[in-house]
Amino acid sequence: MTCAVELRRRGARVCVVTADEPARTTSWLAAAVWYPVGIGGSERALTFAQESFDVFADQAERGVPGVRMIGTRMLHRRPLPADPWWSTAVPGFATEDADDPFTGTWRFSVPMVEVPTYLPWLHAQALELGVEVRNTKLASLAELTDHARVVVNATGLASRTLCGDTTVQPVRGQVIRASNPGLAVSVRDEHNPGGHTYVHPRRHDVIIGGTFEPGKTDTTPDPGTAKALWARATELVPELRRARVLEHHAGLRPARVDGPRVELDRHLIPGRTVVHNYGHGGAGITLSWGSARATADLIAQASSCATV
Ligand SMILES: Cc1cc2nc3c(=O)[nH]c(=O)nc-3n(C[C@H](O)[C@H](O)[C@H](O)COP(=O)(O)OP(=O)(O)OC[C@H]3O[C@@H](n4cnc5c(N)ncnc54)[C@H](O)[C@@H]3O)c2cc1C
Repeated sequence: MTCAVELRRRGARVCVVTADEPARTTSWLAAAVWYPVGIGGSERALTFAQESFDVFADQAERGVPGVRMIGTRMLHRRPLPADPWWSTAVPGFATEDADDPFTGTWRFSVPMVEVPTYLPWLHAQALELGVEVRNTKLASLAELTDHARVVVNATGLASRTLCGDTTVQPVRGQVIRASNPGLAVSVRDEHNPGGHTYVHPRRHDVIIGGTFEPGKTDTTPDPGTAKALWARATELVPELRRARVLEHHAGLRPARVDGPRVELDRHLIPGRTVVHNYGHGGAGITLSWGSARATADLIAQASSCATV
């Protein structure tokens, strides 16, 4: 949907073809905090992350529904590493001491996107700009041949079958949604001996995560995992003991060994240009605006008279 808005703003005629309602996409489940991890530290990844950070920070300032900045405390248990590659994109990134058992803290403020509020807003923006949306499940991208000269493939994990890319793999993530007992700061404890732990407060609830289970495809929440997550989270943030568990979810991050694939493909559909934009793993929201711009740039380069 981000690509559709970006392309329409640049003057293309755009039709989004989607198999699922927004609430049934992976994006709906995301926490979704700006945090470019698990995608390598390339120049390109940094550009996507930086551009998206700037767009979301501006949206937060303009009061776009569902977007705001959130303070984060990232706790370390190992000797404090050098500042991460993405810290240059984050104004005010700072390092602080921490109490035992932690060795130090990274403090930073980043955009947080409440997808169930933001995605309907983005959808409405697209419609207002004149983007057409069709609900259809495609068996093949070639079904679009008669309708468009350029196809943007933003199908996430479905790219495994739709373009035969077996390097895109599910990384299962289970989370708990709980009521917010008054929390305002995100806390991350990635080297917790029990497993990766984060607590992301939103306006009316808190997302508690999360697992990273490569290759697993079952999206039914596991009760044992939920119990362990809750125990780790309440130890990390004791105020959570006053919260009520609202829901359990599990989703599949579309991860790719080489990071997101944002590139031109002239071979997949004979006579048509395909621009891929998938494989963003656990950072699809974090990279969304940057990769949408790169997608639109590729289309502009491929054909100065492209009609999408
Ligand atoms: C638990 C969890 C926590 C996360 N937390 C964060 C976070 O904090 N920050 C962050 O940046 N990211 C986070 N992510 C990752 C993020 O959710 C994904 O990277 C992102 O949602 C991927 O977006 P996408 O648009 O590529 O894929 P999707 O959201 O899966 O969308 C794919 C689209 O393609 C359509 N489609 C698929 N197949 C077909 C077909 N055959 N025909 C027609 N349409 C089709 C679908 O209907 C859908 O509209 C998290 C993910 C999980 C699971």
